[in-house]
Amino acid sequence: MSSLSGLVCFLRRSWIRLEWTLMQAIGFDRELAPALALRGRGLLPQPENEDSRQHEEHSFLDNIFWMAAPKKRRTIEVNRGRRRNENNLIQVKTNIVPCPECGHLKLKHVLCGFCYEKVRRETALIRRQMLAMEGGPLKTPAVPRVVLYQGETPQDSNEGKEIVEMSRKRPSWFKPN
Ligand SMILES: [Zn+2]
Repeated sequence: MSSLSGLVCFLRRSWIRLEWTLMQAIGFDRELAPALALRGRGLLPQPENEDSRQHEEHSFLDNIFWMAAPKKRRTIEVNRGRRRNENNLIQVKTNIVPCPECGHLKLKHVLCGFCYEKVRRETALIRRQMLAMEGGPLKTPAVPRVVLYQGETPQDSNEGKEIVEMSRKRPSWFKPN
């Protein structure tokens, strides 16, 4: 009998030790175990589940942007009647006049494109000549300048001004000032 009681005592001690080792291995205390177990989602009643689902459906329907859609197809005659309506035609322009300088057609009260282009090219040539005289950027002298073309002599009114000589004849439209 003593050997049997000793075996039972040994088994009980082993069981307690095994239980303690398992608790330590899992990682929570014996007192915290019930509280942690109650956190499971399946164990807790969740009454707000249906309300949240209904709320989601409502917000989903509200977020749809409803657009008006045609209920009947419009015939090609109706569509062409709308597209080729008299009001959609290009208006006839009556404000087109010839340029008094070059004779090209231009809009009234608008600069002539051809005249603008020839002035722009001549100005670029003059600028290039002035840059070659200066020898580099940021060397512009604080003296007024006068542009003289081939075969022109400086006037008395041009005294004290720097002369920009162009190696070509003066264009007919560029009048000396
Ligand atoms: Zn013109």
